[in-house]
Amino acid sequence: ASPSVTLLVPRAFNADTLAELGETYRVLRCEDGAIDALPAEARAAVRGVAVAGRFADADMAALPNLEIIAHFGVGYDGVDAWAAARRGIMVTNTPDVLTEEVADTTLGLLINTVRELPQAEAYLRAGRWTERPYRLTPNTLRGRHVGIMGLGRIGLAIARRLEAFGLTIAYHNRSPRGDVAYAYHPDLIGLATAVDTLIVAAPGGAATNGAVNAEVLKALGPDGVLINIGRGSVVDEPALVAALQDGTIAGAGLDVFAREPHVPDALLALPNAVLLPHVASASRATRRAMGRLVLANLDSWFAGRPVPNPVPETIDVAPPRG
Ligand code: NDP
Repeated sequence: ASPSVTLLVPRAFNADTLAELGETYRVLRCEDGAIDALPAEARAAVRGVAVAGRFADADMAALPNLEIIAHFGVGYDGVDAWAAARRGIMVTNTPDVLTEEVADTTLGLLINTVRELPQAEAYLRAGRWTERPYRLTPNTLRGRHVGIMGLGRIGLAIARRLEAFGLTIAYHNRSPRGDVAYAYHPDLIGLATAVDTLIVAAPGGAATNGAVNAEVLKALGPDGVLINIGRGSVVDEPALVAALQDGTIAGAGLDVFAREPHVPDALLALPNAVLLPHVASASRATRRAMGRLVLANLDSWFAGRPVPNPVPETIDVAPPRG
């Protein structure tokens, strides 16, 4: 790639990747995200964007010569990819390199939620073990029937681990997979009725918004456990709080929330919820691997080659000539 190419990197961004981008590109930072407040000349120079999280149509409108948005992360629901497609702007993401890490975290979150390990550790650290043993947990992983909403790359990596744990697996996608023998449910309510443990590994966006609602939680039942590592928007958060408060379900393990980094006080107050600050892929090694994919997509684009990871919405956007 030519060192004369200017990239805009708005808001917070992985430090390792930012340093690597700086070796190839002229990097323009915009940490407050106010892209339209940048001088017109600076905006006109921008041909590429590297971003983690939000990038709206209005942001694209402020960059008249933008060609590519390289998203740091596989879930690109924060990027208006259809707007990009209309404008002839390529969008790329970072699949595969984080799959196993996210699946590992999901199993950790599941066990922590069902067996109360964080609560038990807090008990020990508070010096209470000397008084009496930690309580026997009302829930166990043994004999659980797990339903996965979103049996894609990450969902499948979770399923492989669940098989090793001896648990039964069913799933809900918009369409059944031809390469698995797990029971398929064409709707989420059917899946929730059939299982007692629901793991969300589906993307955010309009199609999944609020899909895990009061009705789905009720179908999961009083032994029910909800694990969400997909997107906070997939779960109706107030309905979940109510279900955890009144025993409609037994517990929840959440890595993602509706309004990150804001977590509702009602959730913080619940003893039967295990809450993580969106860390499923957050090891330094995996984030570096994601960053390398951001670079690979940008480098391919500016060399006039097909990008390795176009998102489906912009698959037909052609690279620039020359
Ligand atoms: P994939 O595209 O491989 O898998 C997504 C799966 O979801 C597919 O099986 C798809 O099947 C299904 N799906 C999509 N839309 C719907 C819908 N409307 N209803 C039901 N199922 C649906 O993506 P990945 O496995 O790589 O990633 C999945 C998601 O995980 C990301 O989009 C991201 O939001 C989240 N994630 C979270 C992380 C974290 O830090 N917590 C880290 C990485 C990812 P079908 O097309 O048949 O519907």
